[in-house]
Amino acid sequence: MRLLWADERGTIYDEPRWQAAGRSGFWTYPWYEYPCWKPLPPGSTLFHLVGRRPVGITPEGRLRPYPKGWAVAAFVAPAHTQLASAAYEREPDAPTLPLYAYTAVGWKEGRFFVPVVRVDPQPRQDAKRFFPPAIAEGARTLRRRFPHNRLVQHLMENCVERYCCPAARNLALGRWECPLPVSPGCNAACIGCISLQLPQESPIPSAQERLTFMPTPEEIAELAVYHLERAPQPIVSFGQGCEGEPLLAWKVIETAVRLIRKKTQRGIININTNGCWPDIVERLAQSGVDSFRISLNSAQPLWYERYYRPRNYNFAMVKESIQRAIQVRKWVSINYFTLPGFTDQPAEIKALCQLISETHLHMIQWRNFNIDPDWYIERMGFKPETFAPPVGIYTLMRLLKRRFPHLSYGYFNPHKAFIARRLSLASIHNEKSSA
Ligand code: SF4
Repeated sequence: MRLLWADERGTIYDEPRWQAAGRSGFWTYPWYEYPCWKPLPPGSTLFHLVGRRPVGITPEGRLRPYPKGWAVAAFVAPAHTQLASAAYEREPDAPTLPLYAYTAVGWKEGRFFVPVVRVDPQPRQDAKRFFPPAIAEGARTLRRRFPHNRLVQHLMENCVERYCCPAARNLALGRWECPLPVSPGCNAACIGCISLQLPQESPIPSAQERLTFMPTPEEIAELAVYHLERAPQPIVSFGQGCEGEPLLAWKVIETAVRLIRKKTQRGIININTNGCWPDIVERLAQSGVDSFRISLNSAQPLWYERYYRPRNYNFAMVKESIQRAIQVRKWVSINYFTLPGFTDQPAEIKALCQLISETHLHMIQWRNFNIDPDWYIERMGFKPETFAPPVGIYTLMRLLKRRFPHLSYGYFNPHKAFIARRLSLASIHNEKSSA
């Protein structure tokens, strides 16, 4: 696996005499220490990392910075979880990298290769399935059909046309998961928030602007029913990248869900949330919400609260939200921000196993953590001397599967048939384990 480097203009070159390497937090390993190098999935993007020298294996077999050019990284296509970050040596004045995941990439047999596993077979965000003319036509149809619906206008104007959001494009194409952003505000201040980066503390921009209005229950229900009635494997999801925390808009959501379920029982109503308020989670579950996806950078309260900087809630409440939703037989996934070197730390694995065994959560969505690893280290105050060598993301995935056979892996929120199948398996498992 050859090392790659890029020149100032971003032109990428392979170095036949050097081999590639990968990074796991404070550690750098030769490429062959990582399993599963796959051809770069279609829909991935390559970056050249200004101010960062690529690190690789010299012809003599030593790990060293390459004498010229910038490092190259891949922002891999959705449904693929990274096993190694790009390996580089950062120059003191290197700019902070924007909110993407920077996966290791090498060159072999005339192609780019990346160390990833496909954790979700669902083709929902496969690049080849997004046909721009059909998306544009779908967006026009929705805007014509709902001329007074601000949510539809926002989704088509901003999310489809400006942000190229895959979920909003699937809505325009009338299939799978439809986004329902509702909340302009949030009760957390995540270091890597993609919808709000404060210039006074952050050197990087947010990926999207935060919603500026709260749609009415009628606007939400009108769009949701239209989608649930027509789409294959339909899901409608509150809690999107272009908003704050949906639970802050729980009254609007509760009324909207009741309106939706009055019209249709088809599909799944899901909420992507930080899980801050257990009472509200249970109340919304009672009102008809089918599944919850709770986002976590860590299962350790110290690191969770250091990253989320929660206001009026804490990690214990998030855990209770998971338990309460499962107690009323709802599907719960964690949106687990996966970063090699941190997620596969022994202490993190111990905390994650404790969380799974104490909550019986159903699914881990292994989401690549869209953050500059060095900026994350600095902002979190991680000290190398307090970290043990990581066990490897792939090893972690296999370990958890052995320990929790009922646990599902994915990248996307599951549809109704999948949930029904897995929930019945999960209850059999829990009955067996509590017997
Ligand atoms: S919970 Fe979501 S919206 Fe709120 S700060 Fe974190 S990433 Fe941003």
